[in-house]
Amino acid sequence: MQMSAVCLRGDASRKGFEILQSEPRSHGPSLRYNIGPYICTPKDSVQYTLFSRTDEAEEATLSALNASSDSELGVFTSKYGSLSASSHRFRDGDCVSIPELRETIEQLRLLKQTLESGGFSETTPPPSGLVMSPFQVGFHLWLTPTENLHGFLPVLVTYSLYCFLAHEIVTKVMANRPLLVCETCRDYHRSRRRDARFCSGKCRIAGFRDRKRSTG
Ligand SMILES: [Zn+2]
Repeated sequence: MQMSAVCLRGDASRKGFEILQSEPRSHGPSLRYNIGPYICTPKDSVQYTLFSRTDEAEEATLSALNASSDSELGVFTSKYGSLSASSHRFRDGDCVSIPELRETIEQLRLLKQTLESGGFSETTPPPSGLVMSPFQVGFHLWLTPTENLHGFLPVLVTYSLYCFLAHEIVTKVMANRPLLVCETCRDYHRSRRRDARFCSGKCRIAGFRDRKRSTG
């Protein structure tokens, strides 16, 4: 029996976003709001499905890892939904704290880095499923009807964007096809060549020019 892909059932507004600043008086002490910038997206959302190891899944992973400015984080959240564990209802929308979202993405970058550098060892093992950690992910096993004679296909389903992206990063590293980091712009990118050092021709030229300058 062949195990099929992991599947994300996500929801996102896909209607743009707004950046709001929460003020001390806009919430009471009972609400666990942090003061600071929030990305707010309209509440009515569309359901979408992503399968692991597809171009769409890779695109989602790249846009998470490369999102750094507030508006890049907004574009990502509008398209894929909340990556952060906590999102708040505010007026007619969902709000995600920008610092919290940055921290979550940083954890995904750290996961990728630690896996690639061989940073997990017997003395510092990767957290197992029983350990609470940022890297803990869980899936539901679904049996989906198929048209063939066996009748059902096992599918691992998650509703968490974080779980899906963590799984995507781990499987890429394990398959020895990690996403690469451009030496010039530091963006994550995909490449058919494992030793590709730059994301584009533009960055390659800029990279060689810089090296020429620094070596005289
Ligand atoms: Zn680049």
